[in-house]
Amino acid sequence: MSAPQVPIVVLKEGTSETKGNQAQRNNITAAKTVAEIVRTSLGPRGMDKMLVDTLGDVTITNDGATILKEIDVQHPAAKMMVEISKATDNEVGDGTTSTVVLAGSLLEKAEELITKNVHPTVVVEGFKKASQKANDTLREIATKVDPEDKAFLNKIAKTSMASKMVSADSKELSDMVVDAVLSVAEKSAEQYRVDIDNIKVEKKAGGSIRDTKFIHGIVLDKEVVHGGMPKRIENAKIAVINSALEIEKTEFDAKININSPDQMQQFIDEENKMLKAMVDKITSAGANVVLCQKGIDDIAQHYLAKAGILAVRRIKESDMYKLARATGARIVNNLDELSASDLGYAKVVEERKVETDKWVFIEECKNPKSVSILVRGGSQRVVDEAERSVHDAIMAVKDVVEYPYVLVGGGAPEALASLKLREWASTLSGRAQLAAEKFADGIETIPIVLAENAGMDPLDTQVQLRAKSSAGKARYGIDVINGKVADLAAKDIYEPLAVKEQVINAATEAACMILRIDDVIAASKSKDMPKPGGPGGGMGDMDM
Ligand code: ADP
Ligand code: MG
Repeated sequence: MSAPQVPIVVLKEGTSETKGNQAQRNNITAAKTVAEIVRTSLGPRGMDKMLVDTLGDVTITNDGATILKEIDVQHPAAKMMVEISKATDNEVGDGTTSTVVLAGSLLEKAEELITKNVHPTVVVEGFKKASQKANDTLREIATKVDPEDKAFLNKIAKTSMASKMVSADSKELSDMVVDAVLSVAEKSAEQYRVDIDNIKVEKKAGGSIRDTKFIHGIVLDKEVVHGGMPKRIENAKIAVINSALEIEKTEFDAKININSPDQMQQFIDEENKMLKAMVDKITSAGANVVLCQKGIDDIAQHYLAKAGILAVRRIKESDMYKLARATGARIVNNLDELSASDLGYAKVVEERKVETDKWVFIEECKNPKSVSILVRGGSQRVVDEAERSVHDAIMAVKDVVEYPYVLVGGGAPEALASLKLREWASTLSGRAQLAAEKFADGIETIPIVLAENAGMDPLDTQVQLRAKSSAGKARYGIDVINGKVADLAAKDIYEPLAVKEQVINAATEAACMILRIDDVIAASKSKDMPKPGGPGGGMGDMDM
């Protein structure tokens, strides 16, 4: 009776679809695999990873976001894990490894429930509520600090660097990090704002991490352009120029016929005159330092040198803005407009040797809210990792200055939060209770992984930690250095509340997002390549 069935083609040929349970399981496995990779690098006793890219470049790092950025993951769910570590990096700067580890363990716990036929949406609901509960607990046990308390901020910077290669030098580095953040912090209505663009972190291989320097100003990895120029100018009046100090080439081809040596000389004289006029404009504005984004012609260099002006060329655009802000200069692109009021000020501009290079230091600027940290270290890999660690520490300190609440580190707050969650879970009923309990297990993974990485027995640790935490103190965590459960407040291990909140929120969001997916539809990869085996695509090929 019914008409013969005609197959309806909805998806393009080559599209693959995975549905239901299978899709869920694949996603969870992929995400867990990513978490597995960074798990062993969590905490001060965590290991580093050596990553080699397709060009053979080597990166050695302990930073979760960097590890995941460098490895090339394929699976879409795995990519989501990479994204959350990036999100945490952007939001709070530290806690990237924890975010991924937590998301992985939440998924692992969720999987246990799904296998027992708890519907994923029930798990998702339960996790969301539990994460709020966990955040409430963290806020309750957080301590408010004075955002200008240098000694305390130092502890934050040190804890952040404790898990990195630079930990041996964290004393010196943390002083610099705190100085840098406090110098650029701006207070408005009881709230501090820190724009970390005002902190320039430069790096140069050579020397040791100990040679890292804090500079009240800006460092340019460029040298003074001409040997005859002064190498040091005090009370510098600085012209910041973004046009070239060169004779512009015409856009079209021009031909000049020169028939005699006289004409040649005239031509050269004319060019010289134009360049001299440019330099005159600079001198008459009263500048004794020129910082130029573009090139400076040899002849112009000569005139500048004769006028006793220190000049630097080909400065990065991003540095131009920093220079303008720091020195109070206006960036000028037409020399005719240059006047004394456009000039910036710095107490000292000086070229100094950094290893084999010569760099220009612009110090004690008009606006002191612009500083630099010049990171040094034995080799390129060392300075790269040191720079990342300094960045994490700067961010952690910034987090506390802007939102002055801290928690004890080493898994102490997570241990207490999981305990409180279990108490709360017992007041729930049915499957919601199961989900809340699993969330509590998930969050307890942080101290357990710290312990595992420190070579401690995970089960013993869990028992001890639960006993200590139940005494109501959120100070007991994993003392990874001595390999035992201990009072970490006494060891000055503190972390920003902002980081912990972000870790929980980002990990929960990622886990829930992955759990809600029950259908993965993947387009065929070889879109722009001819299909092997000739045409035969039928309807799927119609829109190609
Ligand atoms: P993330 O990328 O998540 O910041 P880290 O490798 O930096 O990962 O490790 C951070 C974890 O290490 C935090 O839970 C922190 O409390 C812990 N930690 C840092 N220093 C210590 C320490 N000295 N003892 C115990 N735990 C520490
Ligand atoms: Mg860290």
